Amino acid sequence: QVYRAYNFNAGPSALPLSVLQKAQEELVDFKGSGMSVMELSHRSALYEDVHNQAIALLKELYGMPEEYEVLFLQGGASLQFAMVPLNFLAEGQSAGYVMTGSWSEKAYEEANKLGQVYQAASTKEESYRRIPAPSELQIQPGSAYLHVTSNNTIFGTQWSDFPETGDVPLVADMSSDILSKPVDVKKFAMIYAGAQKNLGPSGVTVVIVRPDFLERATQNVPTMLRYDIHVKNNSLYNTPPTFSIYMLGLVLQWAKEQGGITAIARRNQEKAGLIYDAIDQSGGFYKGHAEKDSRSLMNITFRLQSEELEKKFLAEAKSAGFVGLNGHRSVGGCRASAYNAVPVEACQALRDFMLEFQKNNG
Ligand code: PMP
Repeated sequence: QVYRAYNFNAGPSALPLSVLQKAQEELVDFKGSGMSVMELSHRSALYEDVHNQAIALLKELYGMPEEYEVLFLQGGASLQFAMVPLNFLAEGQSAGYVMTGSWSEKAYEEANKLGQVYQAASTKEESYRRIPAPSELQIQPGSAYLHVTSNNTIFGTQWSDFPETGDVPLVADMSSDILSKPVDVKKFAMIYAGAQKNLGPSGVTVVIVRPDFLERATQNVPTMLRYDIHVKNNSLYNTPPTFSIYMLGLVLQWAKEQGGITAIARRNQEKAGLIYDAIDQSGGFYKGHAEKDSRSLMNITFRLQSEELEKKFLAEAKSAGFVGLNGHRSVGGCRASAYNAVPVEACQALRDFMLEFQKNNG
């Protein structure tokens, strides 16, 4: 029995044990090649198989319409904050951003350096406790795109239904909830996500894009920052992060074996439910940050009555084997990230720990 921590890290975060073991098994001799995946040429047939299978699996898991392209890029979701406006925010146009947390702010600020942007809605004044209602969005006709952050990793809120944007292309940063629940990909012109939460290790960023959106892209952008270049070259324009993509493929295979996205979503409901129940039934001992109908199933954020009690909670949790329960350094408090690969048992253990801690300190 290997030791596995109760890993509630916000990202990089838990990976399925079976995926790690498979990678271990294949590490020094991948499929009889006498080398690891890391040592294969990215132009070899063996690697191309890994690459193309990962693309095909992601399309299959989401039931994506055939025309959508899947890209594997580098630079993290943070580079997408710049690449999206570089490619799609033409002069004379403006792009809308829905402000639901720190990552929306970062995306907005980056686009603001490159073109004209506006805030279609913001819940900043309410400490980002909730996702705005569709009726609150002020989308300017003719916008280059509307950008949303589907899950707010730091504040612990998540969109349940995405807005109807009509002719305005919808672009989503899904870094912290990709593959966690069914999504109608057709609604989106583009989706992007750093892999290091639900998809695999860091080092690769997944981009899902609709070709008709790509046609709007401006051309005077440096080669490596152009989506069309990466599409034309099947994300093999230059050397991709081969090992991260291999790991991502193993995670997607695992997701399929779990019963696909619908089954994963059910488990995520159950897992987050265990912890939210502990919060809701604590009589105010634990206080959730997010409003109930905006709650994230991925990042569960909560506070205790005083910072002193929070410190004690976090210290005791650490001794009990829980990792990653500190809130983001910018907001404090506590946060449990229960991504796809976090097992139900870890969430049960956390719930039990929370009940016990309350009994001893309430
Ligand atoms: N967007 C969201 C929603 C995130 O949670 C993060 C990382 N935590 C980022 C963007 C930035 O991602 P990266 O570190 O891959 O640039």
